[in-house]
Amino acid sequence: MKKNAASFTLSFEFYPPKTQEGLENLTHSSALLNHLSPDYFSVTFGAGGSTREGTIDIVKMLGRETTTPVAPHLSCIGFNREGLSDILKQYKSLGVKRVVALRGDLPSGMGSIGEFKYASELVALIREETGDYFHIEVAAYPECHPQAKNAYYDVMNLKRKFEAGANSAITQYFFNPDAYFYFLDECARQHIFNPIVPGIMPVMHFNKLMRFSEACGAEIPRWLYKRLEAYGDDVASIKQYSLEVVYHLCRRLVAGGAPGLHFYTLNHGELCTQIIEQLDLQRMRVTEVAG
Ligand code: FAD
Repeated sequence: MKKNAASFTLSFEFYPPKTQEGLENLTHSSALLNHLSPDYFSVTFGAGGSTREGTIDIVKMLGRETTTPVAPHLSCIGFNREGLSDILKQYKSLGVKRVVALRGDLPSGMGSIGEFKYASELVALIREETGDYFHIEVAAYPECHPQAKNAYYDVMNLKRKFEAGANSAITQYFFNPDAYFYFLDECARQHIFNPIVPGIMPVMHFNKLMRFSEACGAEIPRWLYKRLEAYGDDVASIKQYSLEVVYHLCRRLVAGGAPGLHFYTLNHGELCTQIIEQLDLQRMRVTEVAG
């Protein structure tokens, strides 16, 4: 498959840490990943109980300490129009040019859903308030969002987000590349041709991965589950195996024409760096364009 190397997007996602040690970790990881000249760093919003201020603080910190553009996530659940407009204004004043627009998950027992029920409504609001200023990313689910009525409705929801003005999408993580490629085929059948960048999860902890995956509906294939389970708390072996599995996954995705890679770093840079270095993206991208 031929494609334009310049359009390939490499990005890394961080979350606002809650401790000083976590902040030091993030500072170290972002400096490491900055050397790979990614297209952007993204910062989660509200996930894991973090606050709006937590995201803004990390956006500012990354802006000061790295040369990589920063894309904050913004989720609409629990917010009204004024609150969201206010955040968008702050991001504009910080020179942010890209946002990841999400519905978000309302933690149980914490307030009301608010004015906005779905991410497509947030995308529409961002376009109404700020025109074409922001590049808007949205979420996509090759293995189907857990609350979707069915896979067809979920793809149509993605279409709604693009029709509301989103530019591109980042997927939930997955370990089966077929899930991604069949999803792209289905999107094409529904005339969705915007870039859909695979989200990549380098595995570092078995229990954490199982917990996340249970919550977000990502499938852990049996072969992967069994192997990770056997490693137990042996983090070094999990990382070594993860390097092999995720490297091969990324190779297949890039070779199959994925328009980029978005890494869920969990604020750790080493494993992502090793994967990218092994992939030799520069060479793969040039080979593809020439091939
Ligand atoms: P939507 O696109 O609104 O979809 C939510 C559900 O509603 C889907 O099942 C969809 O099919 C259904 N739906 C949508 N519209 C309609 C309609 N009109 N009628 C009926 N059903 C409909 N969470 C955070 O809290 N903070 C983050 O920073 C964060 N970052 C993320 C980054 C990525 C790349 C991804 C993939 C997820 C992220 N999440 C984050 C998780 C996300 O908030 C959850 O997956 C959430 O449950 C759905 O968000 P969404 O934007 O996909 O929602």
